[in-house]
Amino acid sequence: MRASQLYAPTLREVPAEAELISHQYMLRAGLMRKSASGIYSYLPLGIRVLHKIMEIIREELDKADAQEILLPIVQPAELWEESGRWNEYGPEMFRLQDRHQRHFCLGPTHEEIITALVRADVRSYRQLPLRLYQIQNKYRDEIRPRFGVIRSREFIMKDLYSFDRDEVSAQESYRAMYDAYTRIFARCGLKTHPVEADTGAIGGDQSHEFMVLGDAGEDLIVFCPDCGYAANVERAECAPFDSAGEQETLAELEEIATPDVTTVEELTRILKIAPGRVLKTMIYLADEKPVAVLIGGDYDVNEIKLKRAIQCNQLELAGAQTIREVTKAPVGFAGPIGLGIPVYADYSVERIVNGVSGANKEGYHLRNVNIYRDYTPAAILDLREARAGEKCVRCGKVLDQARGTEVGQVFYLGTKYSMPIKAHFVDQDGQEMPFVMGCYGIGVSRTMAAIIEQHHDEDGICWPVSVAPFAVIIVPVSYKDDEQRTAADGIYKILQDAGIEVILDDRDERPGVKFKDADLIGYPLRITVGPKHLKEGYVELKLRSSHTQLLVSIDDVKDQVESILDRIGE
Ligand code: ATP
Ligand code: MG
Repeated sequence: MRASQLYAPTLREVPAEAELISHQYMLRAGLMRKSASGIYSYLPLGIRVLHKIMEIIREELDKADAQEILLPIVQPAELWEESGRWNEYGPEMFRLQDRHQRHFCLGPTHEEIITALVRADVRSYRQLPLRLYQIQNKYRDEIRPRFGVIRSREFIMKDLYSFDRDEVSAQESYRAMYDAYTRIFARCGLKTHPVEADTGAIGGDQSHEFMVLGDAGEDLIVFCPDCGYAANVERAECAPFDSAGEQETLAELEEIATPDVTTVEELTRILKIAPGRVLKTMIYLADEKPVAVLIGGDYDVNEIKLKRAIQCNQLELAGAQTIREVTKAPVGFAGPIGLGIPVYADYSVERIVNGVSGANKEGYHLRNVNIYRDYTPAAILDLREARAGEKCVRCGKVLDQARGTEVGQVFYLGTKYSMPIKAHFVDQDGQEMPFVMGCYGIGVSRTMAAIIEQHHDEDGICWPVSVAPFAVIIVPVSYKDDEQRTAADGIYKILQDAGIEVILDDRDERPGVKFKDADLIGYPLRITVGPKHLKEGYVELKLRSSHTQLLVSIDDVKDQVESILDRIGE
């Protein structure tokens, strides 16, 4: 391809809307343009990178006995009603009606469609296991589209669904996909870290997220540098605390006037106590019934864990009205003593001796509140958000934390969809059984951005060879010069004939402009054809990421380029 023909409008200025480096470079290098909030068009260089990623995905999944299909984007509401998710999915779902007022959505994910498909066609255990995938646009009306294609409303996903006859075989599918993901990301040049994850709206029993670490990540991960345990904080288990070393004697319960003191922060300041002494009491509506959650004042409630632990479908913080009804006081004076609703306590509460809590009375708190003597929780559970410094649940050493962005996730679903949708097969002994399923997603467009996050410098992108839009760019210092043009054209032809993806910068631009564009777009290898070396029959090769330069005789260019690309492509 000649640069004069290439549709790659590069920008010198950093676009104001782009906070993240990958977003900036995707716009500046002319990989994509924004069409609406969270909705993008890909230009030639962008789609070439996406195709490279997709090819790597296809190769690895096909090796793992998966088959590619293509499912509809527009999905009928009826199927989502069958699974119960038409209401559950909420405002993230793009919904529409056809001319007959029938309801549809733009697929945010495809469990319903695929399960219905397989239900109709797959009848026997002999047809299993079945692993089907597609690469296609997904639609989620994200509340905060941001970071370009990292969190967009239309994005490209690879989604795969596995159907097995029993749990053992389904676990094998899960493992095969986990391993395929590891290879896919490595081949894309991405360092990822698999972490235990919550199953969120997709549901199921077991899940791993593949995270790329970085401060801009929206996910928080805890990990144990010692035993390797790693989990999203949404999921990370917290250990109960060891019982306090020195036992304090239980002091007498005491009411204290605390007018206008309604936060843990104010309370600790006024009473001169550590936040860990405060019994923070939060009132929630769990499936519309009020419950209280008690947690150490130095911790936050992990609502995902809470929802799972008390097995409710809907959970929200109670409003001022409910709090007044339940505690007989305005917001800020709730405490565990005498509450007529279930009180669920986090592990952090068990060790609080002579704690401070609200008095369920306006303007008052209580001092020396003690568990079992003054109140008894309905249950003591793991409800807090894990964080660095905690004890690892696996080995007891100290956890560390990091931020990350999820590029892929694997889920073991079991029969969560096959049961309600009645997707059955006939087993060896003639019995009807529900499929045991798994589902597996990779954000293809997000992966492209994540690769840039890991491979760039102050001048632009440094693509790994495996996903580069073109491997090589030839930059003649002046294409108008006869000798340089002849040499550049010759090298261009030789490389093209060798099957190397190459750009020839034949534009009538100053060399500085051409070099800047080449660096910004990030071709792994640049060949500079300049007057000085050309006289001796040499051109200069420069590696984008290591900045290594070498002079190569024109006769050796092809062999050198091939061997360098092989070496840096590993
Ligand atoms: P997140 O927690 O980031 O919202 P998710 O867990 O909802 O993602 P999945 O349903 O697991 O996402 O989707 C599979 C993959 O699709 C994710 O691992 C991610 O790479 C990608 N993905 C999800 N939502 C978006 C989005 N809004 N924009 C771009 N990629 C996305
Ligand atoms: Mg996910």
